[in-house]
Parts: sequence; structure tokens; C-alpha cells
Amino acid sequence: MKAILVREFGGPEVLKLEDVPDPSPGARQVLVRVRAAGVNPADTYIRNGAYTLKPALPYTPGFDVAGIVERVGSEVTRLRTGARVYGETLAHGGGAYAELAVCDEDRVHPLPDRVSFQQGAGLGVPYGTAWRALFIRAQAKAGDIVLVHGASGGVGIAAVQIARAHGMRVIGTAGTERGVALVRAQGAHNVLNHREPGYLKRLVELTGHGVDIVLEMLANVNLDHDLDILAFRGRVVIVGNRGRIEIDPRKTMGKDAAILGMTQFNADPAELRQIHAGIAAGLENGTLNPVVGKELPLAQAARAQVAVMEPGAYGKIVLVP
Ligand code: NAP
Repeated sequence: MKAILVREFGGPEVLKLEDVPDPSPGARQVLVRVRAAGVNPADTYIRNGAYTLKPALPYTPGFDVAGIVERVGSEVTRLRTGARVYGETLAHGGGAYAELAVCDEDRVHPLPDRVSFQQGAGLGVPYGTAWRALFIRAQAKAGDIVLVHGASGGVGIAAVQIARAHGMRVIGTAGTERGVALVRAQGAHNVLNHREPGYLKRLVELTGHGVDIVLEMLANVNLDHDLDILAFRGRVVIVGNRGRIEIDPRKTMGKDAAILGMTQFNADPAELRQIHAGIAAGLENGTLNPVVGKELPLAQAARAQVAVMEPGAYGKIVLVP
């Protein structure tokens, strides 16, 4: 099969399309014929070689796939050959940027006919992360005010749609006019531009008492300010971070506030069942609709990884083999 291979850590130029042997599923794994692969910022951190996850070389990047089940392992009971699915492939640093990918059975889920493969490639990591951040880490409930701080990208759009569908008041931010319009169209009640000076002051006008939950996509820039705009017993979930920041811990004390870290890869089997049952319901009732902003052929993986790190996010970037 054709796959992107990384033979040395480095810039986007190390992503090369090569011929490699077809992978085989283990007993509790599924082989997926990839129709689209999602591009996540973490794919670029891993490719650079300076991330906590450092696969042995060579490896094929990418975690999110959507496609058709080609073959199932001998102990797989939940899925059949020919099924439309989305899923995450976690073997050896990823494996999604390829024509075929192997996923563990509990990381593969049915993809309804109304959802395209390109949209399906934007479900696993982004929607899984948004769901886990909201409901498992922040214990979100209807009536909560949620700030999705960085709402125009893959995780942010997912969070806006999920929170809105569950009765929360949703405030999103984006860094461009186009992003602001996109976030509004996804159901945010209010949208602010995080590149405008003093934009967080408007939150006080909008909410009166601050926000119950912040889903933070760039903690190294925003965490200290997030603590200012939290309501009593507010929670900040650190979804994304790209450096260090100084905060004043005193800001958490009077409010009983919590700062919660997370990574989607920590989800245990029980959480995965909960997360993907929730996503399935939202796909069925039409409240969850991944936005694909850019679609590129697999051979242009380098271009896609450059684009995912540029400002001006607009939903997901996907690769099509
Ligand atoms: P993405 O599609 O590239 O989106 C990035 C988002 O960050 C955009 O909405 C962008 O807005 C926004 N942003 C840029 N500058 C910002 C600022 N000063 N304040 C607030 N937001 C800002 O990436 P993604 O897939 O949504 O992921 C978002 C972050 O979460 C990344 O750092 C990623 O590595 C991380 N992540 C973590 C997990 C986990 O398990 N913890 C899982 C997935 C992703 P504009 O471009 O409109 O300015």
C-alpha cells in the first residue's frame, strides 16, 4: 500500500509517500481501508521529535481515520467487513496517513451514511477530546456557561456543537472574521475575536458572573486570564498548550476554582464507550456535524501539516488517499 513514512524527525519535508507492506490486524483489531485521515496538531509535534510520544523510526503519522472495514481480527465481534467506520489508530505513533490502517476494536465506531468520510476523519480525536474535556473532566451540565477558548479549529468546533446540543450557554473565540462567522454558525451564542485587545472584558458584560467552564486551546497564552473570568467553582480544562506561563494561584482560591489537565489518549474503555455513545447520538440526531475546511491528497501531507499550525483555523484539515 501507499503510506506516508517518516524516516527521520524534522520539518514537514520528512513526510514522504512510499510503498510499504500492508498491515495486518491482531485478534482484537480491525483493518480499515482509509478514505480520509484527519490531521491533528499533535501529528506535527511528534514529527518534530520533541514530544512525549516519540515512535521508533520509521513510522506512519496520523491518528484519525474514516473508511471501510476491510478485515477484522479473529476475536472481533462488534464490527463486520464492509462497515462504514471512523476510528483512531494508536499503533506505533499513529498509522492513519495511509491507504490501510489498523485500529483496536474499542477505538472504531460506526459512521452513519449521512456523515462523509472526510467528516468522519474529524471525529475521533477532536470530538473525543471535546466530549471528554466537557463531561468527564469538567463535569459539564445543562445551564453551564462554557467558554471555548479557541473555537474555530477541530476540537473547538466539536466543543461548540456538543455544548450547544446539551443545553449549555456557549461563548467561543476565533482569531479571524471568517473563524468568528464559522463559530457562530456552529451554534455559539456569542463569539469573540481572541486577537482583539481586551476581548475578555466583554465576557463580564455577557455573563455577569463569569464562566463555569473554560476549554482552553492555548494555555501558555491564556491560563492566567482564564482564572480572572471564572465563576465560583469554575473549571479550566487545559486541552492545548505550547509553552510555559506564569499564573497567580491565588486567583483559584477564593473561587474554589480548578485547573484540569487532560489528554484524549488517557480515556479508558469505560470512558470510550460513554464518549462514543454520546457522539453516535449526536451524529444520529444531526446536532454533531464536523466541518472540513481543507481536503488534500495523501501525497500532500507536508502541506497539510504546515497548514494545521497556521493561524486562521477553519474546522478540520483532512488527507484523502
Ligand atoms: P486547530 O484545529 O489547529 O485549532 C487551533 C485553535 O486554537 C483555533 O481555534 C485557533 O484560532 C485557536 N487559537 C489560536 N490562538 C489562540 C489564542 N491566543 N487563544 C485561544 N485560541 C487560540 O487545533 P485543534 O485540533 O482544535 O487542537 C487545539 C489544541 O488542542 C492544539 O494545541 C492541540 O495540540 C490540542 N489538542 C489536545 C488534545 C488533548 O487530548 N489534550 C487533543 C486534541 C488537540 P484561530 O486560528 O482562529 O486564531
